[in-house]
Amino acid sequence: MAIRRITCFCEHQFDADVADVVDLGVDADAERRILAGEFMDVSCPLCGKVLKPEFPCRIRHDARGIDIAFFPSSIGSRICAESFRLVAPVASRSATRAFGKDRSFA
Ligand SMILES: [Zn+2]
Repeated sequence: MAIRRITCFCEHQFDADVADVVDLGVDADAERRILAGEFMDVSCPLCGKVLKPEFPCRIRHDARGIDIAFFPSSIGSRICAESFRLVAPVASRSATRAFGKDRSFA
């Protein structure tokens, strides 16, 4: 769990303990909450509104061999772009080795 600063629609700010890693083999209710869209739900202590914050989370189930890095769509595209910049030079080098220096992908 990670303490996150949440700002409600009523503008009240509060700290909430939000999952940053969940092991589906340990937290028996986590899969149901994920499928129900309730996984990261927190209630504003002032007005009671149920909020759905979006933070990255790692979802694991060791017995089933599951290890997923979840990035909410609101930040996913930025992280994907950063990951692509990190991976692309490695992929280019691998492709050069696999296809030779004179080959082109065009
Ligand atoms: Zn509120």
